[in-house]
Amino acid sequence: MTTAAIVEPLDSGLAPATDRESTRLLRRLLRRPVTVVCMVWLAVVVIVAIVAPILMPHVASQNAGNIFKVLQGPSRQHLLGTDSVGRDVLDRLLVGTRVTMLGVVESVFVTLVIGVPAGLAAGYLGGRTDRAIGWLTDLTLSLPGIALVLVVLSIFPSSMLAGMVTLGVILSPFTTRVVRSATLPIREELYIAAAQVSGLSRFYIITRHVLSRILGVVIVLAAIYAATSLVTQTGLAYLGLIVPLPAPSWGGMVGDGISALTNQPWLIWPPGVAMTLTVVAFGLLGDAVRDVTAERWSGARVQRPGRRRAAPMAGAGPSPVAPAPASDALLCVQNLTVRFPSRGSVRVIDDVSFEIAAGETVGLVGESGCGKTVTAMSLLRLLPGDGEIVAGRITFDGRDLASLPEEQLRRVRGREIGLISQEPMVSLTPAFRVGWQLALSVRVHHGVSRRAAQATAIELLRSVHLPDPGLVARLYPHELSGGMAQRVAIARALAGEPKLLIADEPTTALDVTVQAEILELLRELQRDRGMAILLVTHDWGVVADLCDRAVVMYAGQVVEQAELNPLFRRPLHPYTRALLMSDLHNAPDLDHLPSIPGSVPKPGAWPHGCHFHPRCGYATAACRDQPIPLEHPTAGRDTRCIHADQLSVLR
Ligand code: SF4
Repeated sequence: MTTAAIVEPLDSGLAPATDRESTRLLRRLLRRPVTVVCMVWLAVVVIVAIVAPILMPHVASQNAGNIFKVLQGPSRQHLLGTDSVGRDVLDRLLVGTRVTMLGVVESVFVTLVIGVPAGLAAGYLGGRTDRAIGWLTDLTLSLPGIALVLVVLSIFPSSMLAGMVTLGVILSPFTTRVVRSATLPIREELYIAAAQVSGLSRFYIITRHVLSRILGVVIVLAAIYAATSLVTQTGLAYLGLIVPLPAPSWGGMVGDGISALTNQPWLIWPPGVAMTLTVVAFGLLGDAVRDVTAERWSGARVQRPGRRRAAPMAGAGPSPVAPAPASDALLCVQNLTVRFPSRGSVRVIDDVSFEIAAGETVGLVGESGCGKTVTAMSLLRLLPGDGEIVAGRITFDGRDLASLPEEQLRRVRGREIGLISQEPMVSLTPAFRVGWQLALSVRVHHGVSRRAAQATAIELLRSVHLPDPGLVARLYPHELSGGMAQRVAIARALAGEPKLLIADEPTTALDVTVQAEILELLRELQRDRGMAILLVTHDWGVVADLCDRAVVMYAGQVVEQAELNPLFRRPLHPYTRALLMSDLHNAPDLDHLPSIPGSVPKPGAWPHGCHFHPRCGYATAACRDQPIPLEHPTAGRDTRCIHADQLSVLR
């Protein structure tokens, strides 16, 4: 089953929204009187361009007119008067519309065909592709545009096609830059990461998920270029460079009008008015499309909270320090180190190791900024920005995900490791109905027929206890409540029947009652499906509710990990102890809830020695001297503290 095959529409409520969405956009456009006038005018222009040369074939080749009717004003016989050789102005205006509009279409087509794919590739892929396209764009922009058109026209004299294609090439760098800028924020959105986790190819994500979002920008650009092309073409035709005489064109007629300006000023009015109305219509229509598109997204779009762009891993490979794991854990992370070259090669994850057994639920705990989410996303190699794994091994079901070829990793994402995020609304593609998105994931992962995928999508919605799954399947993400959206996101994560589910703060954005329902749902799904869960959270209540073990992170390092009972009873790291003490459920005195002084240091500002020592009440000189290794004081317990033995039982 190829992704291309899935592009075809599904039927009923599970169909992609494109057609119906286009109808909606058209309806919104038609509610604006000015837009309707512009559309009517442009429709008239197009009809005239098609019909007039067919009805009046002689006008295009009419060289001689009538010497007795030269430069006449409007009359009953000649409604728009006659030109400098006595030909009917209205006839030439109508017939000249085709060549004029053809020139516009040629240049706009060329600039979009070159500029849009280049901008999408630069914005979405980034890295070398972005730099290479940026260099080509700069090079093209540095060329003298008009001089280039004149050079081309000297090679292809009076060729409208050559002139307009050259103009399109000259305009394409602007398109590239605008499209790239529009793509950059979209690639950061969670639903793009979710699409990658679903196993969709880059080409499919770019053409369906990204292009659909920037379509309004592209239409506005097309309108602007149409106006620009019309004006430029008129100038070239006025100079007699692109339309061979006696063929009529609006530009040629403007030139005729200017040369007769003193004898018959009227002559410039017909082509001038036609041009002005067309340019204004293009501009207003482009504005209207932009506004309507913005209205459409304003109800659907929620900004992604942080940078989570999927980045190709550069320089990642098997850790030179991590031998293959001896354990039979489903997931074994060893000495994982992640850095960001664009931030001065700062490490944000430092020597992180932990395991998850099949069917186990492990909580990844810590304050914001400790590296929990980066650790979780590095398991899928979906690091934000230019983040890269520089050391370590991520062994999942016998394979090292840190060095697995991208093509193979794509089959792991979604199918073997699922992902749900804290912002369910932005993890669903706003352009498509819920049912269609689910059915697509099912087809990508299992290669089943369209009908079977639709049935499975409904079953998935039912399995996450959504009432009336058929109705929910027909809704857009922005029509869902937060709890419903999270259930849909969970259903999609289950589409591949993963062995491991990464749940990144899955209840943070939800209210308390919905949080409890989602936790209960996760517990039930895990029990029924036997999948392992890595639960990223800062909430000890959620950990206590759902997890078997906890891994505590601080400033990019694992500082402690253990099963919940011993961890809660006697934490072996001061940070874990302080986190537990400051939790509402553990506070000895609710009137004086303890807090940890200071804040988590940013990557690059980690203190020497123990990262926690500036905030630690147990710190000694030895804690500041050298990095603290992760010790194993007892079976099943790890701590990164040299004074762990001094910590007492919590209660
Ligand atoms: S190593 Fe020292 S500074 Fe770090 S947590 Fe332990 S006692 Fe505190």
